[in-house]
Amino acid sequence: MDQNQMKSRKKSPFPQEMKGISKIEGIEPDKLVRLLKAGRVAIPSNPRHKHLRPCAIGEGLRVKINANIGTSSDYIDLDEELQKARVAIEYGADTIMDLSTGGDIRDIRQKIVKASAVPVGTVPIYEAVCKTTRKGGPVSMSGDDLFRTIEEHARDGVDFMTVHCGVTRQTSASLLKHKRVTGVVSRGGALLVAWMHQNERENPLYEDYDYLLEMAKAHDFALSLGDGLRPGSILDASDVPQIHELIVLGKLVDRAREAGVQAIVEGPGHVPLDQIEANVRIEKTVCKGAPFYVLGPLVCDVGAGYDHITGAIGGALAAYFGADFLCYVTPSEHLSLPTVEDVREGVVASRIAAHAADVARGRGSAWDREMSKARKAFDWDKMFSLSVDPQRAREYRRKRRSRSPKVCSMCGDLCAMKMVDELLK
Ligand code: SF4
Repeated sequence: MDQNQMKSRKKSPFPQEMKGISKIEGIEPDKLVRLLKAGRVAIPSNPRHKHLRPCAIGEGLRVKINANIGTSSDYIDLDEELQKARVAIEYGADTIMDLSTGGDIRDIRQKIVKASAVPVGTVPIYEAVCKTTRKGGPVSMSGDDLFRTIEEHARDGVDFMTVHCGVTRQTSASLLKHKRVTGVVSRGGALLVAWMHQNERENPLYEDYDYLLEMAKAHDFALSLGDGLRPGSILDASDVPQIHELIVLGKLVDRAREAGVQAIVEGPGHVPLDQIEANVRIEKTVCKGAPFYVLGPLVCDVGAGYDHITGAIGGALAAYFGADFLCYVTPSEHLSLPTVEDVREGVVASRIAAHAADVARGRGSAWDREMSKARKAFDWDKMFSLSVDPQRAREYRRKRRSRSPKVCSMCGDLCAMKMVDELLK
């Protein structure tokens, strides 16, 4: 797509796609356009991403979920990453993020974008740092290296990029005054804190934010304003560095809107249940309704091996209180690079969290009604097809059958529904 096509697309924001999205979301197209223009909804959609099925994220819409995939320096297998992308999309991920830091990062990204019908996000600083590590460590990266990498990601069709613009010299200085249990747990945040400290310079993503906005506008990608100082322990939740960074992000949201660039705001992290509502309300106030993308949140710190559950509990509550976009957490969180199976488990857990919030927010209970009717009718095939993970549901039914084929082996002859059915007959 050339420059002129990109410009014309921005003037008339893909009317066909908008119609399709408003139908799926059950919202009037005019209202969707209004929310998009106000920056309360984002539709990350890079014109260079061919065969993209765009989705809208934000106020009044169905809760969306993201699945992170990508290589690390220890595990580099392009086919496995492509399989993770396929599985994530099959099980209901609305977007995927390629966080690769190992192997030929550009090639992996290009192939993931090509294979993905859903929007793809990245964190360009990972690649920028990997490229410069050979030259002498992360601190040798220049601002130009970082912006060149961002431009490459845009040219490769990446729809949204995490940029940790709120990790500034001032916000990171508050880390020294307000001691934390786990310090900085965001990779991008940590890299920038180290870079600023060693180079005694301001974060280029903050210092040259106008340039970043120009680039985002020219290439039509959305910014996902990263929470580099997010808490990595419930003991650090809602502390001064986290809120300080959020206030900076709120100002950057204003500047993105003035520049006509779509911005999403990322949020924590590890947050106990009783602080989740406040976190959502503060973000929605400080960032004036910008779509809120939460990473979990994990509601306790001891779920290792089961953090897809701690993340889903937090995600459901955050979405119920108004978060728009949940980043999944896999069972391997904090322990290892996820496998394909971990990705499936993480997506399913996050899908359930998002749906639970949609139901409580008054959307999407028709699916549950159908399932309840199928249960009452003992229509097992229908139950499988309506399950969030039909394969898992079938496996459980097959594993321990009841002597009575109609019911399941949980209650067997004492099946409550069957008993009452027969009595009433
Ligand atoms: S046996 Fe028990 S658990 Fe199984 S369908 Fe009947 S009531 Fe439900």
